[in-house]
Amino acid sequence: MCGIAGIYSHKSVAGELYDCIVHLQHRGQDAAGITTYDERMHKEKGMGLAKEVFNEKNMKLLTGNIGISHNRYPTHGGFSHGEVQPFWTSVPYGIALAHNGNLTNYKDLTEEITKQDSRYLNTNSDTEVLLHLFADKLHEDNPPESSEEFFELLCSAVSAIFKKVTGAYSVTAMIIGKGLVVFRDPNGIRPLVKGERSNGNGGKDYIFASENSMFYSLGYEPKGTVLPGELIYVDNDGQVFNKRLVKKDFNPCIFEYVYFARPDATLNDISVYRARLRMGQNLARAWKEKHPEKKPDIVIPAPSTANTSALSFAHELGVRYSEGLYKNTFIGRTFIMPGQNERKKSVKYKLVPQELEIRDKIVLIVDDSIVRGNTSREIVRMLRDFGAQEVYFAVACPPVKSPCFYGVDMPTRGELIAGNKSEIEIEKYLEVDSLMYQKIDNLVEAVTRKGDHHIDRPCMACLDGYYVCNDMDDEKMDKMEAMREKDRNGN
Ligand code: SF4
Repeated sequence: MCGIAGIYSHKSVAGELYDCIVHLQHRGQDAAGITTYDERMHKEKGMGLAKEVFNEKNMKLLTGNIGISHNRYPTHGGFSHGEVQPFWTSVPYGIALAHNGNLTNYKDLTEEITKQDSRYLNTNSDTEVLLHLFADKLHEDNPPESSEEFFELLCSAVSAIFKKVTGAYSVTAMIIGKGLVVFRDPNGIRPLVKGERSNGNGGKDYIFASENSMFYSLGYEPKGTVLPGELIYVDNDGQVFNKRLVKKDFNPCIFEYVYFARPDATLNDISVYRARLRMGQNLARAWKEKHPEKKPDIVIPAPSTANTSALSFAHELGVRYSEGLYKNTFIGRTFIMPGQNERKKSVKYKLVPQELEIRDKIVLIVDDSIVRGNTSREIVRMLRDFGAQEVYFAVACPPVKSPCFYGVDMPTRGELIAGNKSEIEIEKYLEVDSLMYQKIDNLVEAVTRKGDHHIDRPCMACLDGYYVCNDMDDEKMDKMEAMREKDRNGN
């Protein structure tokens, strides 16, 4: 998972791009980067959180009114400094590009770029491949002068990318002397929202980002979503061009609503917070139907993504909501830390049970999802240690059975508990008195019930095994998993 942003403004953009990284920090804590331009390109990037990478001194060097930023959590490529985005190339024009997603035909594209186009790849990152493809298609012996002509060239370059590249990719790019460019893959899998504000001189500033949580504080008004297959170009003078180059089904990632996105974000014209409330409501209704006799004393969320669903779950059941597990917010999200050992270690550091809320009570835990099962099992054990009489477990998301190859780090089938065990086996493994998962239809209903959205069918390949780009079979999955393992091990 990653977070991207791009800004065109009448004033310096570096500070606002830094704020974007801070607000998108939950999408990637591994590395961060900002690239801006005036007459030249200015870049600063490094490993760690925004506050560790940027300081007053290096921020001053990021001059210019157009720029892009990136938060990184690697789902492809390695973990080194060289893989930190934005990537850039000096031919043609000078292009910097940042990307959120995963290219599923990365290997074939790499062959093509290195063998046919004689370009050198410096990293294992699919973003570098995307940048070279983009740069290659923009290369012309007689470069266009006007913005209209340049937009035509952009349309043909991005159309070629849409034809060639499979997988998920939301992109922000800047081209020196030309402006800001954004596009989203034809299925619209990873999010990309847009906003604008008046610049006080009759013109407008524009922002594009993975989520819109920072819009309010930066004074931007949300203007909906970049559509799947859409290209938007803001030229150097603030003139905006846009075209939906390909029209396919709109299949945004459902897991953004379950886990990744911040609850205050609106993605694909649907409020994440409201979607989570509806998830809790649907789950509670199903619980009441299936277990009319099982009424807990309290409902406790597995903090903090599940807080919202647990709140509506408790309300629907008429049971007290309790923050019986206190979360130390200074420890990173376990799902987002590379490596199983770190994940295992950090649950007890991260969550502290409140004995008064738990002892002698029938406790129902609401969790957003169960991916590997380790965290859930430890939570149950902690509750038992602290004297819970019975422990029920309700999950706002259906069983995660298949890996994601579209930009979320759940790489191998072997690691997914629901890919290897039945629900009854999982119930036993977690040592709970009762386990219930959300049904897929109820999750989709919760996400799509309200909002002025255009979603045809969300991507839920990790839940139902249907990969919306039609780009997976068992052999391909084996190869992708092997590649991911190799990246993780740094080979
Ligand atoms: Fe999202 Fe799952 Fe689809 Fe990946 S496979 S994009 S996590 S819904």
